[in-house]
Amino acid sequence: MNKMFQASTLNALMLGNYDSTISVSKMLEKGDTGIGTYEGLDGEAIFFNGKAYKGTALGNVVEMKKEDNVAFGNVTKFDETVKTNIIVNINSLADFKNALYPYIKHNLNQFYVIKSEGVFKNMHVRACFKQETKPYKTLAEVASCQREFKYQNVSGYVIAIYCPNYVEGINLPGWHFHFLSKDYSKGGHILDLSSDEIFFKLNEQNNYEIVLPTNEEFTKLNLCEDLKAKTEAVEGASQKK
Ligand SMILES: [Zn+2]
Repeated sequence: MNKMFQASTLNALMLGNYDSTISVSKMLEKGDTGIGTYEGLDGEAIFFNGKAYKGTALGNVVEMKKEDNVAFGNVTKFDETVKTNIIVNINSLADFKNALYPYIKHNLNQFYVIKSEGVFKNMHVRACFKQETKPYKTLAEVASCQREFKYQNVSGYVIAIYCPNYVEGINLPGWHFHFLSKDYSKGGHILDLSSDEIFFKLNEQNNYEIVLPTNEEFTKLNLCEDLKAKTEAVEGASQKK
């Protein structure tokens, strides 16, 4: 089985530690497929086919340079040789999670990554603006000024990771989905979706490696604080304004 590589911890990100943890080039040495965010909480990261993309708060996608930096994220060297599965009639993100459950229920205590493709009747994503000034606001504060985008009938890819419940605070328990359109023009953190047919490959992972930030701020964070409620609000919520 292949390895899940992670940069930083989710609670560090929640508390506003958006400095560089690892360069894009080093991240891509660790894996070709994954999700995350960049230095300064700059957009939503999609690592796809060995390249690093950013879904921005302006609604476009840019490819990152090797010397750019990742604040938080996960990648794996995706095994493309596994079989392709198909799930149908997905009317919401909750439907998608339910449809994936039979594929992971035999072991909810390990990690999974999916690489999927489809035509999405609806695709609702969000991205945050880069934080320019320090001290950085916490993720809960920043998420209140996120931008959301709703697309119809868009072809593209969904990269998602599943983390077991016991990694609470280190990563997000359950599924976390990011989107990249087939023409590489749209992307972000998925809040909702629907599709008649989604094709996906699933990788199971029982090997987990983390690199921690080395900046001064990280040394002072209280990473035992229970941020579960705030995390759920930030990762799942649509900000209605
Ligand atoms: Zn995300």
